[in-house]
Amino acid sequence: MNRVGLGYDVHQLKEGRPLILGGVEIPHKTGLDGHSDADVLMHAICDAILGALGQGDIGSFFPPSDPQWKDAPSKIFLQEAASQIKKQNGQLINVDAMLIAEAPKIAPHIPAMKNNIASALGAKPKDIGIKATTNETMGFVGRGEGMAAHAVASIQLPE
Ligand SMILES: [Zn+2]
Repeated sequence: MNRVGLGYDVHQLKEGRPLILGGVEIPHKTGLDGHSDADVLMHAICDAILGALGQGDIGSFFPPSDPQWKDAPSKIFLQEAASQIKKQNGQLINVDAMLIAEAPKIAPHIPAMKNNIASALGAKPKDIGIKATTNETMGFVGRGEGMAAHAVASIQLPE
């Protein structure tokens, strides 16, 4: 059977933090704040996969209260999501994600993000969709206070 899952995440932008999106460090005056490396894109994808599996969210696997995840690279969360797919004898069909960020320009980094995400999931880059849009200067994203990401994942599971 085919299953789908939905993920959403948001992080604040702070000075003095590196900006890491899809595992790519992008030069910018602010970076995403959070307990791990705050890779909002990978977190949304992770929750979409866990959702398709009928599991809890990323926080139930990696509690933010646990100091071992401080500044952790978010690919480990995707690797865990991939191992959960394997545990259920599933097969990832595709992931599609949308990053909402006012700045900087994301498009030049999308091929590297796809490669990073595919490699963490044991998938092919062509099965990972990444798009980015601005919020047309409106709201917290538009003011550069944070970034958000939405993702869906489709997984084939045995009946
Ligand atoms: Zn997050």
